[in-house]
Amino acid sequence: MQNPLLSKEYFAPYGKIKAKHFVPATKEIIKEAKERTKKLISLKGKRTFENTMIPSMEISEDVSGVIMPMGQIYYLMSNDEVNEEYQKSMQLLTEFSNEMSMDPKNYKMYKDYSESADAKKLKGERKRHLENVMKGFILSGAELNEKDKAKLKKINLELTQLSLKYSDNVTKSAYNLVIKNKKDLGGLPKEVIEAAKEKAKQLKIDGKGKDVWAFNLDMPSFLAFMKYSDNDKLKEELWRAYFSRGTSKGMDNRPLIEQILKLRKEKANLLGFKTYADLSLESKMAESPEVVMNFLDSIATKLDKISRKEFKEIVDLRNKTKKIKSEVMMPWESSYWTNKLKEEKYTFNESEVSEYFEANATLQGFFDITGKIYGLKYEKVKGIPVWHKDVTVYKIFDEKKKLRAYLFVDLYPRTGLKRPGAWMNQYVSGKTLKGKEVIPQVGVHCNFTPPVGKKPSLLRYDEVTTLFHECGHALHGALSLTELSSTSGAHVKWDVVELPSSFHENFATSKAGLKIITKHYKTGKTMPAALMDRLVKSNTFMEAVGTRRQITFGMFDMSLHHTESLKKKMPSAHDVYKKMYVKYNEMPFVEDSYMEAAFTHIFAGGYAAGYYSYMWANILDADAFSAFEEKKNILDREMGRKFMENILEKGDSEDMNVLFKKFRGRPVSEKPLLKRLGIKVK
Ligand SMILES: [Zn+2]
Repeated sequence: MQNPLLSKEYFAPYGKIKAKHFVPATKEIIKEAKERTKKLISLKGKRTFENTMIPSMEISEDVSGVIMPMGQIYYLMSNDEVNEEYQKSMQLLTEFSNEMSMDPKNYKMYKDYSESADAKKLKGERKRHLENVMKGFILSGAELNEKDKAKLKKINLELTQLSLKYSDNVTKSAYNLVIKNKKDLGGLPKEVIEAAKEKAKQLKIDGKGKDVWAFNLDMPSFLAFMKYSDNDKLKEELWRAYFSRGTSKGMDNRPLIEQILKLRKEKANLLGFKTYADLSLESKMAESPEVVMNFLDSIATKLDKISRKEFKEIVDLRNKTKKIKSEVMMPWESSYWTNKLKEEKYTFNESEVSEYFEANATLQGFFDITGKIYGLKYEKVKGIPVWHKDVTVYKIFDEKKKLRAYLFVDLYPRTGLKRPGAWMNQYVSGKTLKGKEVIPQVGVHCNFTPPVGKKPSLLRYDEVTTLFHECGHALHGALSLTELSSTSGAHVKWDVVELPSSFHENFATSKAGLKIITKHYKTGKTMPAALMDRLVKSNTFMEAVGTRRQITFGMFDMSLHHTESLKKKMPSAHDVYKKMYVKYNEMPFVEDSYMEAAFTHIFAGGYAAGYYSYMWANILDADAFSAFEEKKNILDREMGRKFMENILEKGDSEDMNVLFKKFRGRPVSEKPLLKRLGIKVK
């Protein structure tokens, strides 16, 4: 019987795919890919883009065509069997791609082509594609001699093991704050108390017949306690435990950090870079570590005054409430007073707000807005195979009535089946290659408040901004008009990928946008002005302080992997963090706290010398949206056309610095972000 995963249909036949198909299909497509690659390598005669690069790209397209639906099922309709079969398939796939990137014959094929007369004549997107492919090989060591190749392999292996150990130590660092006395629950909302009671049960804490509550270092538990508890002493206890993660005996991450940094530097040097930051930025939009550090520092400096002002407000509120006089606020106090001030200044009832965001109407709001600025039309279609009956499929048409993409929308949770969170996926990457055009397929997956009985789904405000964020990602994939699939849509440099998503969030955070998307689910009325005003203001509440905290992390990451790593004797990560903290924060540094020992983003994740990209995305999106604000019309069609033609349609076919300049008429500027943060800029 035919394996449905191998059917090569344009729409994956979800109804027919079973977990038992995963591994055989993976094996088959890998076998096929190997045979086709072998043939390609042994090709006689002159190499051209048509006979080398295009067929090699088609091989990867066919592999992803088989893998993609398996991933969808794994993330959205999982069970034990699916889990197991998917893991096995991923293992096979990793082995295959390692084999390909390490195969000298495979590399030689691309290298021969890159040195050919045909390659020298390449322009634009094709040239960029070849450069990306070659860079990928070179950064994984293809140009090294055998001795250095072995060295690199050893370093990579050690780094993987160290990262795993690091993150393991963080996960295993446990601490339970057990509360036995009811009066120590002061300030905590009912649902937080209930969750704490449940947690005590889960942790099997014996109350000896009496009620007992527990908080621990899991994010929701920790954050809720810091935000609501009236008890400073207990908050300090939990806070200190949190910032001691990864420091206890046998689970100490501090020596691991030293080893990780040393190996990263060695790896960078081996590949011909001065520092690990230089290596990391080689495949990002930002030009150099110096550029990144300058822009971070310059923003932090400009925010200095306003951040002090914001901070003084929470100190004043505390002093007034507690009738004390002190300029100092300890870090375990701040989240509590920030929340108190926010409640005082911008109280709004969350469920009242939700009544203006019925899920379908909110999605329609996104369609209306993008209909106006890009000239798009969305049309519901039936009969396309999907993984669950809750999934809705839309066709997206442009102004000229051309079909541009299929959009799959899957909004609600399925307990135990669907992975938590919200994400976009580019199922089928579009291409306009002559005679081989492909229309993109993209999807948005969320876990929003579901409809219950007759009550429709009323979204929380953070779900609304998330919906706009993910739909923004989706349009990047949907509107792509690149010639090749490898440069299509969201296949952009790592620090650019959040531009289309954060940009579209602006329509859900600005008054002009909210006027279009809010609609009371019973009366159909727009949100009242006063409520909207509080909602919009709450979006930027304490943003300068928050931005400077982000900058602390970004500067710590970058200087650790760059400037500090060049010193004869590299200072400890603790000292580097302290230096940054003291520079950019209003609160005193607590000596025996060790943020660096649990910073998994940069020591056990993909953000090493890349943490700045959160800030970078904010700069890009604020600058892009200000182009519309300057027109005094956020629905300006002309500006929409520019954004669509220069950014959304272009994927990675050109450098983003060039694309952004074409859209904005000038290079990226941080001024609009500063303005948004309340700074007066010329
Ligand atoms: Zn995103």
